[in-house]
Amino acid sequence: MGLLSMFSADLAIDLGTANTLIYVRGKGIVLNEPSIVAFNRDTKKIVSIGNEAREMVGKTHNEIRTIRPLRDGVIADFEIAEGMLRAFIKKINANWLPGRRIVICVPSGITEVEKRAVRDSAEHAGAREVHLIAEPMAAAIGVGLDVEAPVGNMIIDVGGGTTEIAVITLSGIANEESIRFAGDEMNNAIIQYLKRNHNMLVGERTAEDIKCKIGSAMPLEEEQTMAIKGRDLVNGIPKTIDISSVEIREALSEAITTIVNAVRLTLEQTEPELSSDILDRGIMLTGGGALLKGLDERIRLESSIPVHVVEDPLTAVVLGTGKVLEDLSRFSKVLLKGRNY
Ligand code: ADP
Ligand code: MG
Repeated sequence: MGLLSMFSADLAIDLGTANTLIYVRGKGIVLNEPSIVAFNRDTKKIVSIGNEAREMVGKTHNEIRTIRPLRDGVIADFEIAEGMLRAFIKKINANWLPGRRIVICVPSGITEVEKRAVRDSAEHAGAREVHLIAEPMAAAIGVGLDVEAPVGNMIIDVGGGTTEIAVITLSGIANEESIRFAGDEMNNAIIQYLKRNHNMLVGERTAEDIKCKIGSAMPLEEEQTMAIKGRDLVNGIPKTIDISSVEIREALSEAITTIVNAVRLTLEQTEPELSSDILDRGIMLTGGGALLKGLDERIRLESSIPVHVVEDPLTAVVLGTGKVLEDLSRFSKVLLKGRNY
């Protein structure tokens, strides 16, 4: 019996492409783990999820495979995604009583079919009542913006699989852009760069590590170097090289330009009254990608609008989803509507 076993747990879930976070009504965040599943290739049985599965990435043998079922911001592998959600819920040991609810956030660019898939997963995992909320809306509520007022707020959420840019006013999204270009693409850019320029092959985890430690979107006050290990593409032997933050910035530059261009496009499509609010209030930058050094400064430079990195970019979405769960009647307007939602 776990700590939470005595509660009837209504849940708020941020089913992210990189990380899944679960908030229990009245309690707060109880789970924060990577959205990764390790499963048996033959039987498709789940071997482990979350942190435990992450340890296995790139280190499996023939029988076991690890995947990120939500990779590009959608449920890429329905069955496995559902199994993962179910396993996470089981892990927090929530004792679900009749009437249990889930508020779950989804990328704003998601299709009706994908919404249906998320909803079905939540239902199969045991929910009686499922509500969906768009990720940027949840993030805006999470960072304490007044989303109900007739005032424009721009929020940029740079996650693993998608970057979501949205202008929010009067409990709704006035305009938005969702691109499948975010943290994963940055990792991939680093892998390609090292291959091309150093004949070196590194795994995804190493690339992510490099990005978080010395990655940047603007020149650093003090440029850094990092020793990295990988495999030499020419002779196949493991090797270590020193790589500088200047090189990694070059590797990331295309990915960052894509994100910055999407921000500019969204601004161009924003109604002038809302634009002037955004100019006054600044842009809120959230999601794990907001932690990339200099990304805020870069967007500021190219949009001439102040940019604020939110206090905790990795939890804003789940906290916002949690606030909605705590007061569903107040926030009913922010929920996604559609057939059956
Ligand atoms: P999602 O909502 O898609 O699950 P998150 O908001 O949890 O995504 O962010 C995950 C992404 O943030 C990953 O691509 C991760 O590499 C990236 N990230 C986390 N910390 C940093 C950092 N310090 N610098 C750059 N990127 C980071
Ligand atoms: Mg997210």
